[in-house]
Amino acid sequence: MRSANVAVVGAGPAGLYSAADLVRRSDAVVDVIDRVPAPFGLVRYGVAPDHPRIKGVVKNLQRVLEHERVRFIGNVEFGRDIDRGFLDEHYDATIYATGALHSKPLGVEGERLPGSWSASRFVSWYNGHPDAEAHFVLEASAAAVVGAGNVALDVARVLTRSVGSLALTDIPCSVLESIAASRIRDVHIVCRRGAAEAKFTTKELLDLRELADVGVVVDPADLADIRADDLDGPVLANVDLFRAWAANRDAERAERRRIHFHFWSRPVAITGASQVEALRVERTGVVDGEFAGTGEFRTLPVEMVLSSVGYRSSPLPGLPFEPERGILPNVAGRVIGDDGRHIPSLYVAGWLKRGPQGVIGTNRTDAAETVSALLEDLAEARNRPGRGAEAAGERLRERGVEVVDYRGWQRIDEHEQQRGRDLGRARVKITAWAELRAIGAGLSTAEAGSRSR
Ligand code: NAP
Repeated sequence: MRSANVAVVGAGPAGLYSAADLVRRSDAVVDVIDRVPAPFGLVRYGVAPDHPRIKGVVKNLQRVLEHERVRFIGNVEFGRDIDRGFLDEHYDATIYATGALHSKPLGVEGERLPGSWSASRFVSWYNGHPDAEAHFVLEASAAAVVGAGNVALDVARVLTRSVGSLALTDIPCSVLESIAASRIRDVHIVCRRGAAEAKFTTKELLDLRELADVGVVVDPADLADIRADDLDGPVLANVDLFRAWAANRDAERAERRRIHFHFWSRPVAITGASQVEALRVERTGVVDGEFAGTGEFRTLPVEMVLSSVGYRSSPLPGLPFEPERGILPNVAGRVIGDDGRHIPSLYVAGWLKRGPQGVIGTNRTDAAETVSALLEDLAEARNRPGRGAEAAGERLRERGVEVVDYRGWQRIDEHEQQRGRDLGRARVKITAWAELRAIGAGLSTAEAGSRSR
């Protein structure tokens, strides 16, 4: 009996852990398809550059792509170069793992003023994503970051870190120059609920203590109502940290930069004549057991607002979508149609399956669940007609799609590492689509340069 052909759309952690599990538990042949010529999704383009330990997971993900039954098919976009019909025709099953690329909107007046940005655009910029169209000139002296999650902490750290501590990372050179010229002095993290309800993890909070000459300012009054006996371990560890910061009144006088936490504050408007001049917030609280505004307002004078209130997935053409949760409707990874039944051969993994939550490792168990469902279904459909993943590559070439395969990615990788060595840095990422495609296709640096102009 021939091996099953499985397509995985998305070469981030969810897609690659799915591929790894598939080849470990079956004789399937797996094509991992990504719209970018470089793999690793969120690890390459989401994890902050000053978190090299987390980025180190790339070594494990790279090994998945080196497996003899896994192929990388980069620079192929679902919805542009291929569609559901194409995948259904060439593969026995498809796992969709395209993640959640965009920030949720804040939904307050003034959100479109110049100087107001989504965190996802800022993160794409500092991580050198080829889609990042904005270049941030950090002229603001005060910025607000809205949201009490780890992405807000990433953004606040990148805004306040010394340029020297970022210089050895893979952060793009143009970003480094912008950070070197930054005028930022104060970053205000605006959290709509309390310190005990925030979604920060302790490890990420502890990173703030490592920032050279950055004071962390917490108002003791914001912590006054917290009763320690009600809290579990990780929350208590967070609260203890906030209490230690609140007790340090020297933080306000930090010479270089300050990060201020504002709990029980929800944004109501971003104001300014022609660009951001302030963020107006309302004090919140719990009234009769319900979270609510108190009608007490104040204004934070900031020239930049970065909204970091969570990510959302986009619908994929031809596939069902649950807009409320921003996921493909599914049961344990089996994609469900309008009639509530599994749509044969369609599966989902990662943030597109469960929503934008959890750390990178969460995707391992998540992928294993999806792969179990897929393998169970395949076992029942062993007499399926022959299909050809090989033909998929041929069809793409006929359509004029310039596939970047694993060898192409290796060329990009080698090129970035060489650029890094030349500048005494870990790696210098290629950030332009044309150059990624050209280096991936094996063109010389000069040819790639002329293509990217
Ligand atoms: P998140 O953890 O879901 O946090 C989103 C925050 O935004 C919450 O505090 C939420 O408050 C708040 N929020 C939502 N809507 C709001 C509104 N309209 N106004 C004000 N605040 C609002 O999302 P994230 O920070 O984007 O992180 C996504 C996932 O990636 C998380 O699982 C995170 O742990 C993970 N991540 C991990 C790392 C790391 O391990 N180093 C780094 C980055 C991200 P409520 O709680 O009140 O809803």
